[in-house]
Amino acid sequence: LEKQFLRNQRMESIGTLASGIAHDLNNVLSPILMSVQLLQANSREERDRQILSIVETNVKRGANLVKQVLSFARGIEGDRTILQVKHLILEMKQIIEQTFPKSITLETEIQPELWNVCGDATQLHQVLINLCLNARDAMPGGGTLKISARNIFIDENYARVHLDAKVGYYIVLSVADTGVGIPNELLDRIFEPFFTTKELGKGTGLGLSTVMGIIKGHGGFITVSSQFGKGTKFKVYLSAIQTDTIPLPEDLEVPTGNGQ
Ligand code: ADP
Repeated sequence: LEKQFLRNQRMESIGTLASGIAHDLNNVLSPILMSVQLLQANSREERDRQILSIVETNVKRGANLVKQVLSFARGIEGDRTILQVKHLILEMKQIIEQTFPKSITLETEIQPELWNVCGDATQLHQVLINLCLNARDAMPGGGTLKISARNIFIDENYARVHLDAKVGYYIVLSVADTGVGIPNELLDRIFEPFFTTKELGKGTGLGLSTVMGIIKGHGGFITVSSQFGKGTKFKVYLSAIQTDTIPLPEDLEVPTGNGQ
């Protein structure tokens, strides 16, 4: 628990620092972008326009990174609509089937009567994409990616050992791979912004911190377990809207006094 507490504190200070820098950077990038677009509109030389378009693309890329950092730090507010997690998974399934290497086998397991969650579809989609892209990268030689979802009730015992958890109804969305795994000593650091083990240009280290920010913004939490050399499993807990109708005691009473 103490380790969790220290980690949360460290994440918070990194978050504060990162969001400060991101905010200032945003103020620098906005006027650059506007000026470039103005120049583009007014320039007659094709070559100039090409160069300006490179500048524009990269300023936009920078602005996107900034947005990701800010979303980590603030846990960005988004839409709140009732969502079926099954749809998110099926959408992800299509992306995987179309874009992932064939050496990766996808398995899905969705509990029937899965409860709904309340949230922002785009953001939760991003969570799933980030986790699946990491799983893909962890299996360069192929393997199995398993996405599953089920209902769960978190009781006091569980909430006591997990700082971020509160008692209540959740759905657990899990993404598991049979990839390279994460060494124990790095497990604590993977959610930090800019922490990456990927080559320059391949990873930003913002994927999991964005995931964490979004999940926190949804009142949920995430856990990870990994065996080095064997694989990794992320579990995303999202507060559920229970859709089961549990009959109240009075509904069960047999009506009486009807004269029969
Ligand atoms: P990035 O993917 O840009 O490196 P992330 O924040 O998404 O940034 O991930 C941080 C690091 O966590 C990765 O560089 C990798 O070392 C580790 N990691 C994340 N997911 C997995 C996974 N499924 N298997 C192995 N390592 C992982």
